[in-house]
Amino acid sequence: MARYTDAVCRLCRREGVKLYLKGEKCYSDKCPVVKRPTPPGMHGMARQRKVSEYGVQLREKQKARRFYGVLEGQFEKYFDLASRKKGVTGEILLQTLERRLDNVVYRLGFAGSRAESRQVVKHSHIEVNGRKVNIPSYLVREGDVIAVREGSRDHKRVKEVTAAGPRTVPAWLTAEPEAMRGTVVRMPNRDEIDAPVQEHLIVELYSR
Ligand code: SF4
Repeated sequence: MARYTDAVCRLCRREGVKLYLKGEKCYSDKCPVVKRPTPPGMHGMARQRKVSEYGVQLREKQKARRFYGVLEGQFEKYFDLASRKKGVTGEILLQTLERRLDNVVYRLGFAGSRAESRQVVKHSHIEVNGRKVNIPSYLVREGDVIAVREGSRDHKRVKEVTAAGPRTVPAWLTAEPEAMRGTVVRMPNRDEIDAPVQEHLIVELYSR
């Protein structure tokens, strides 16, 4: 499946929640979810109808996928990985998504959105433990040090975003914005993951 390239605000309006896909605009009163909280399309309101149990579960999975910018196949792999591990599958799934390098770079404030973060990583601006990593799906581990690479510190956009600093850094990470560096202190707990998702519905969907 190809990556979604249409207007991303439609995705938030479709799900009825802010998925924070656009950076600054998401935090302003220009956000369409605030201004126009109806499903997209000419007949957005009219099209609203009773949703089946399957439909609710499906929407929850789509929400999680879109929030983290992950494609269908990749998402299934994450679920498969989570279901093989000991513990609560839904929580492990979210923890895995949260550990993606593109998400961590965004959380540390080196990019304005996860989409931008993916570009920053792909364009080799990021290193993990002193080594270049240009794979957005790279999963960070406890103790990893994530930094903007020496040669990228003067990159206009990276500099601009980093100077503004991260909005909030979750407790499982520490950020040093001046040094353009951050550390994974530990793995995230469920209450530190702000994804607007009820993960048990995703587990129910894949258990059908
Ligand atoms: Fe658009 Fe961001 Fe608002 Fe979503 S949260 S509708 S991406 S501005």
